[in-house]
Amino acid sequence: MVERLLGELPSVCALGEVVHLWQRDIRDDERCGCGVRFSACPFWTSVGEHAFGGWEAVDVTRVLALRDAVERTRHIPRLAGAQLPAAHLADVREYANYYARVYAAAAQVSGAAVVVDSSKHSALAHCLRWADGIDLRVAHVVRDARGVAYSWTKTITRPETDGAAQMTRYSPGRSALLWNAHNAAFGLLGRRDVAVRRIRYEQLLADPRATLRELAAFVGVPIGAGDLDFLGAGYADLRAGHSAAGNPMRFTVGRLPLRRDDAWVKALPRTQRRLVGAVCAPMLRAYGYPLNPAAIPQEA
Ligand SMILES: [Zn+2]
Repeated sequence: MVERLLGELPSVCALGEVVHLWQRDIRDDERCGCGVRFSACPFWTSVGEHAFGGWEAVDVTRVLALRDAVERTRHIPRLAGAQLPAAHLADVREYANYYARVYAAAAQVSGAAVVVDSSKHSALAHCLRWADGIDLRVAHVVRDARGVAYSWTKTITRPETDGAAQMTRYSPGRSALLWNAHNAAFGLLGRRDVAVRRIRYEQLLADPRATLRELAAFVGVPIGAGDLDFLGAGYADLRAGHSAAGNPMRFTVGRLPLRRDDAWVKALPRTQRRLVGAVCAPMLRAYGYPLNPAAIPQEA
C-alpha cells in the first residue's frame, strides 16, 4: 500500500517486489501490475533492454543461486558487519548489482528520480548496502505484530497466477518470530551507514498526507501543489502501475479505500493474540504499541 501511494508522486516509479522478478516474471511470465504478461509489458521490456540488452540475457539460474547463497535471514549478522570476507563480498556484490541495473534502467525508462522496490526481505536490504551506485533509502513500515499475524493466517489467492497459487501463510507463532527477526534486521541496518525511516502502518492510515510528505522529504522528492490530490477522505485514487510482483493490491486501479484493518482485535483467537503479544512484547513496546488490545483506539 505504501508503495502504491508513493508511486503516485511525481518523479517516483514503483516497481513492486523486485525480489520475485527473476522467477515469477522473467521465468514464469506472470502478470505485471498493468494487467498484461511480463513479456508483453512495454515498460518492463524496455527496462530489460536497458539493463541487460534483453531479459533473455539474464542467467536466472545464476541469480537464484546467488540469492540462495547470500540473501538469507541467517546471514544478516554477517551482512551487517563493517567488512565482508572477499569471496562472500564478490557474491553479494554480484547479486546486488543485478538489482542496481534494474533500478537504474527503470529510472531511465520512466524518467523518475526515485524507484521503489517493495521487496519485504530484510536480507535483500542488507545486500543492497554493498551494491554499486545505489543511493539506498529504506522505508521501514511496521505494523502491530498481532495484525500481521492475523493477516498471515488468511487464505488469499494470487491473482497473477489466475487462481492456481495462493499467497504464503504462516502460523501466528511463526509469524511472531519472523516479525521480530525482520524488524530487528531493519533496526540493525539503521545503525550502519544506511538511511532508514520507520513509519507505522497505523500512522500512515491516520494521516496519509502527512506520512507521504514525510517519506517524500526522506527520499528528496519535492511535493508541489496538487501532487497529493489523489488522496481523499479515506481513499486514494490510483492509476495503473507496472508492479512486477507482490500483494494483489498491485492490480487495483481507481479508488482504494484507506482504512485501518483492526479485524485481528476480534478475529485473532485470544491464545494466539497473547502468544504473539508475548513473543513480540519488547519491540511492540519500543514501537509504541499497547500490549492490551483494549487500549487500542477503535474507529467509530
Ligand atoms: Zn506493465
